[in-house]
Amino acid sequence: MARIITCVGCGQEKQYYARESCSTCYERWYHNGKPEGGPPQPKSNDECRAMGRKTIVFDRDKRMEEYRKLTRDDGLPREIAAQKMGISDRTVSRYEKALRESAESPTRGGST
Ligand SMILES: [Zn+2]
Repeated sequence: MARIITCVGCGQEKQYYARESCSTCYERWYHNGKPEGGPPQPKSNDECRAMGRKTIVFDRDKRMEEYRKLTRDDGLPREIAAQKMGISDRTVSRYEKALRESAESPTRGGST
């Protein structure tokens, strides 16, 4: 029963979720303590999306680097590193895979 509405939160044509909003905006509204005026406006949809993506990538790189340091530089076992960082086994395997891949295909230049 998909219903397309112009979302009151982001102004985009989206699938109706609740309160004249898309699910994203509804959740934003909900997590903001259900303000009377409806969902708080995103800065702009594109800006919002771009920022979100950047933050996620940045954060992941940072955490992966932290994980790499713990397991490689400090020589900690995976489980301990995972515990220290509060990450799940699944995240650990993802980091391991990414680290292996980057080790197998090192970026060119720089090293002697
Ligand atoms: Zn919306």
